[in-house]
Amino acid sequence: MKKKNKFYLTAILLINIFTLALNAQPQFRNKINFPDILGYRSLKCDFHTHTVFSDGNVWPTFRVEEAWRDGLDVIALTDHLEYQPHKDHIPSNHNAPFQIAKKLASELDITLIQGAEITRNMPPGHLNAIFVKDGNALVKDDWKEVVLEAKKQGALLFWNHPSWVAQQPDGIAKWYAEHDWLLETGILFGLEVYNANIYSPETHQWCIDKNLAVLGNSDVHDPLHFEWEAEKVAHRPITLVFAKDSSPESVREALLDRRTAIWYDHKIIGDKKYLKEIYSKSVSIDKNKISAIGRDSKPLLVTNNSDVDYDLNLVSANPNIQFPKEMKLMANRTLKVSVRAAKEDVSVKEKVTVVYEVKNLITAPGKTLQVTYEIDFDIRPKK
Ligand SMILES: [Zn+2]
Ligand SMILES: [Zn+2]
Repeated sequence: MKKKNKFYLTAILLINIFTLALNAQPQFRNKINFPDILGYRSLKCDFHTHTVFSDGNVWPTFRVEEAWRDGLDVIALTDHLEYQPHKDHIPSNHNAPFQIAKKLASELDITLIQGAEITRNMPPGHLNAIFVKDGNALVKDDWKEVVLEAKKQGALLFWNHPSWVAQQPDGIAKWYAEHDWLLETGILFGLEVYNANIYSPETHQWCIDKNLAVLGNSDVHDPLHFEWEAEKVAHRPITLVFAKDSSPESVREALLDRRTAIWYDHKIIGDKKYLKEIYSKSVSIDKNKISAIGRDSKPLLVTNNSDVDYDLNLVSANPNIQFPKEMKLMANRTLKVSVRAAKEDVSVKEKVTVVYEVKNLITAPGKTLQVTYEIDFDIRPKK
């Protein structure tokens, strides 16, 4: 009887384990194919997210799961310090989100950064402190005292959604003396040029003029897909950080050196030196010599080895050669285009320079990146 019991128990246990294994839904991480540049890793980051510990609707570990599934490398949990609508049910503890989520983050190799959103009227508006050590010590009446405490903890600060209509009804961001003070403290390293799906051109220009890092973050409150499924873009705003590795120290060093760009809405926004590298690491052309007679057209294969689509418009070229006026370089595909002489009787025996504008690589408000190719031609006139 005893033996039989043992057998049954083992059988039931095995069946239970088997059923559990069957019930566990497979989880997938989205692999983002994006080039590393200039000897740095291109980290995919979101530095602005909320949980139930302020006005968000998800538990902190959920943010880590989402980031893992989205293929991100780094996230910050940045709950509001001064806005605690769930406090009757969830105690106000500004260290709790990080403490709850850090174990899972380390298991999934997601770099988790402790943050807090200093939530004040304009000016100064909302400020995100990241690399915070003790969120509870940031609860103070005077916002300048909060900033100085954050600085004491070694935190860095960025200004969130400067053009937010709840604080700037015309949707135009304005710079105040309070922001000069933030610059003077040395703690302000960047500005949110993209907050969720809102782009602020004024904020973008300030980043250029004041040498601040461009940031694009989700500011997500609900499960991410609630907010993004209605958008016609594949992913949330991502801040690209060009860092030695994904450790918090390397991310911090890169942010202080302003090595960032934004990837959202089929666009990349950032300094020319980074966008140029991203493009040239993504796109290759198969030929450097084209030989033809008369108007005989020749194929040119342009391969895009990244998840970014590139949208090109011809700017200038040798008038004797016809290049495509537009090229849509779809992610992870090769485009075949044809080039040929403009007339039957031309002779071109030289390196031809052709310049394209990459319409979705934005270097400044209203300005795009230009890329130059040099292709050797040997075109003889048709007799
Ligand atoms: Zn905010
Ligand atoms: Zn927020």
